[in-house]
Amino acid sequence: MRYVSTRGGMSPAGFSDVLLAGLADDGGLYVPETYPRLDAATLRAWRGVLAERGYAGLAYEVLRVFMDDIPVDDLERCCRAAYNADTFGSALVAPVSRVGTSDLWLAHLSNGPTAAFKDMAMQLLGQLFEVELERRDTWMTVLAATSGDTGSAAEHAMLGRERVKVAMLTPRGRMTPFQQAQMYTIDDPAILNVTIDGVFDDCQDLVKATFGDAAFKARHRLGAVNSINAARVLAQVVYAIAAWLQVTSRGDERVSFAVPTGNFGDILAVHVARQMGLPVDTLILATNENNILAEFFATGVYRPRSAADTHATSSPAMDISKASNLERFVFDLVGRDPRRTSDLFGRQVAGRGFFDLSADPGFRAQRERFGVVAGTSTHADRVATIRSLWREHGVLIDPHTADGVGVARRLMASGEVTGPVIAYETALPVKFAETIVEAIGEAPEVPARFAGLADAPWHVVDLPNDVDVLKSHLEAWLERPEG
Ligand SMILES: *Cc1c(COP(=O)(O)O)cnc(C)c1O
Repeated sequence: MRYVSTRGGMSPAGFSDVLLAGLADDGGLYVPETYPRLDAATLRAWRGVLAERGYAGLAYEVLRVFMDDIPVDDLERCCRAAYNADTFGSALVAPVSRVGTSDLWLAHLSNGPTAAFKDMAMQLLGQLFEVELERRDTWMTVLAATSGDTGSAAEHAMLGRERVKVAMLTPRGRMTPFQQAQMYTIDDPAILNVTIDGVFDDCQDLVKATFGDAAFKARHRLGAVNSINAARVLAQVVYAIAAWLQVTSRGDERVSFAVPTGNFGDILAVHVARQMGLPVDTLILATNENNILAEFFATGVYRPRSAADTHATSSPAMDISKASNLERFVFDLVGRDPRRTSDLFGRQVAGRGFFDLSADPGFRAQRERFGVVAGTSTHADRVATIRSLWREHGVLIDPHTADGVGVARRLMASGEVTGPVIAYETALPVKFAETIVEAIGEAPEVPARFAGLADAPWHVVDLPNDVDVLKSHLEAWLERPEG
């Protein structure tokens, strides 16, 4: 499988190069040159694979076509090391459960080390990095910014890998107590947690400025793990298929998916699975008050917001000012035309600040064909959804999951969506206790594996919002002899 940039400025690359590259040098995102085709017989066979070899076996079968320059033995080992009962609580890794006797199902993607779905892709990424860096006999420094879930998933996935160091910037005091504890209690010389006096966008800008220093980037082999990494999207395709297999019994049943969305990563993977031939009916996209994507799918206008116009909400992992992965979807929407994609994102968004496809005859047709229906969920909506699922079914969900479930239930009630709907559970309630207390009047249960986390000592450095201070601190940390 070869990978091309959505902006057409790169010669096609193999998977292992894309794994380590992150963003393409022409500013675009890497996508598979073609989507491998799935048929009913393959799906039938995979049902058996999931039953007999668990999620790890399915991951290997799905991914070996995409990751065909990783030796098969290595890939199989990576899948087994990433996806097992020790790390995810069961061999199914992402089990699906039915909400009462309704048509609504929850895919539990949050049973990993940091209690959010980010673990699903990140655990595999950690294994793949190790294999590939070893093969190339090199090392890398992951530098990234996080508003909460990505950072902790990355640190827990890279922990103990000899060839990877991680420096993670976080906005001081703006993550939940649980999220802070998950990162800052890590005590490892290869992991550096930094809090920045600022908001998430300030952290992101510092990361960009540091990557922008080409000499610094080369000297320290800076690499990225953010959601634009193609390997993360591919790893996420696996659980769309795994969830579908658990809800159906034949090869052709159509199922809808409801996905709470920020950077358009998780939902993009369902789109890819559909393009491969997975029988997906409606793709329900839920946003919070930062509803750039709901606006795009309703009107054809994509307009990223400024940091000042980005609301801090009670589903903070979806508080985005732009949707980084949308470019991959729009590339498909415009018939995989790199010139067009480059014009829309490279020229129009970068220049005017938006693009408008409302007059494009292809936009409506493709939106229909791709089956996306988008909706917005507010704080009041998510609190009401958490409360109602708890009272009616004894099922407790986190605020992000509630955004997806709320929008799905609205569409199911109006009859716009019929048949089974798989809603993604993207985090466990324990990560967002304050909103849970507001919704049900009591704190969420703390899973046993997180007991004691709140009392452990922190290892974190406070720095000002200043790129030179950051760079000299990184330099000193990276050049410190290992203890
Ligand atoms: C990251 C995240 C999301 C949004 O996922 P995208 O792939 O950015 O769309 C939703 N819920 C939770 C809990 C998250 O951590």
